[in-house]
Amino acid sequence: MSVYVIVAAGGQGTRLGGETPKQWLPLGARPMLGHTLSACAAAPDVAGLVVVVPESDIARAEQLCASLDLPCGWRVVAGGARRQDSVANGAAALPPEASVVLVHDAARPFVTVDVIRRVADAARDHGAAIAAVPVHDTVKRVEDAGERRWSLGSVPREELFLAQTPQGFRRDVFDEVVALGHRAEDATDEATLAERAGHRVEVVAGEPGNVKVTTAHDYVEAVRRVHGKSPGPLDATAVARPRLRIGVGYDSHGFDVTRALKLGGITVPDAPGLSGHSDGDAVCHAVTDAVLGAANLGDIGGLFPDTDPAWKDADSLALLREAYARVRAAGYAVENLDVVVVCRRPKIGPIAPSIRERLASALHCAPGAISIKGKTPEATPALADALVVHAVALLTDG
Ligand code: MG
Repeated sequence: MSVYVIVAAGGQGTRLGGETPKQWLPLGARPMLGHTLSACAAAPDVAGLVVVVPESDIARAEQLCASLDLPCGWRVVAGGARRQDSVANGAAALPPEASVVLVHDAARPFVTVDVIRRVADAARDHGAAIAAVPVHDTVKRVEDAGERRWSLGSVPREELFLAQTPQGFRRDVFDEVVALGHRAEDATDEATLAERAGHRVEVVAGEPGNVKVTTAHDYVEAVRRVHGKSPGPLDATAVARPRLRIGVGYDSHGFDVTRALKLGGITVPDAPGLSGHSDGDAVCHAVTDAVLGAANLGDIGGLFPDTDPAWKDADSLALLREAYARVRAAGYAVENLDVVVVCRRPKIGPIAPSIRERLASALHCAPGAISIKGKTPEATPALADALVVHAVALLTDG
């Protein structure tokens, strides 16, 4: 068996942000593509690599291949407009003796010799094979209803696998795949074309670690894997930096002993309530203003005016949920929240865990992302008859 691997690095994929196509992002001392090529070349059955890159990257890719001291032959060719065009260009560079052809994504740098061997053996024996991993999470079919999504029920996952690369083909099958690719609509992978050509594609075990580096998070994880536990400084220009937004909220309410105390979405027994048009929940109000302010979406008074009878005695946690839906629609999510409650009573420490839970549920974040601290108004008698809240929220795009 003479196995050749076409490494598809034709994409200009800059979804990670920055100007650098992902295959050129550094992972340790080498670009991602260098890891992928070394990993493919390490498989004993692999006799050669065909690296497909954009025309403008050919010299750079040749330099990289030369520097890697690969234990097999290699060639670099220019890619095409679509994935299947790039693969066809790679196919044209295969030597006649290539009896099994694997296609592998440049953005899967952690492929192992075992996975390559399994795919190559199955392709040799059965014509076509892909590496894939089973789906472990419960899978939901979802209806997208604009602002919200609704679950339509679970999809049986026993039949569901996530396709990885390499995908492998006996040479005769691969030639059919390439021919079909010339005239077919865009195909997301080569196995799809083999299936369309009427071939059965064997599914062999992939590996969870054989990830495709697609998002900035994937990239940071990949850097960690390469560096071990202590990642070195990242190339800040290469990684998409999250958009960070900070917001501050403030509220103060006087006490109203005729009302129950609502604070951070919970009812606090044996404590005087707070005055106000809504339920008087000053923690929710300050947090609402912090998250709205961070996203520059106005403030609670503008969204829910206290002149509007609709908000009389309103549940302030529901108002926070409503405001946060707007923050999410603007593309942001809470990273963390810090809240200070200045009051003589109630004592905040004992009720802080419950408040954190309630706020976390409204903000779809972990309770650990929320801090609540109590302060007594020492030496500020004017604050003795009020409850004052300061909140600072950090949002990221997510
Ligand atoms: Mg208020």
